Amino acid sequence: MENINPNDRAKEIHDVITNKIAHNMSTIAVLTTNSEVVIVGTSESKLRNEQRKILKENELEAESITGNHAEENAIAEAKKQHLTGIEIGVSREICIDCQELIEKEEIISHTAFSGKKSTKRKS
Ligand SMILES: [Zn+2]
Repeated sequence: MENINPNDRAKEIHDVITNKIAHNMSTIAVLTTNSEVVIVGTSESKLRNEQRKILKENELEAESITGNHAEENAIAEAKKQHLTGIEIGVSREICIDCQELIEKEEIISHTAFSGKKSTKRKS
């Protein structure tokens, strides 16, 4: 298995968005699993074309559910694929709701936790 750093990879995929506003409005989460598959979740409805273009063969785009955070989409996709999430890296600080989910699922993360609710969270 290739040893990837999900934090760095999440930032890489996020940073191909060059428009500053669009960049600020989105988040990318990269989740390694107990297989070669690495799941890429976005907070948007889908990955942008420029992001999809740089995905590697073993990187799977998570289906997005409206209003879900990138982390939630990535973790839900792992379940759907019957994979176990190992480590998640996120391109910005992780909100408290996602932190709780990550801890419940016993997934490792070296991304900073904000300790706060997301201001973008609708509910
Ligand atoms: Zn979150």
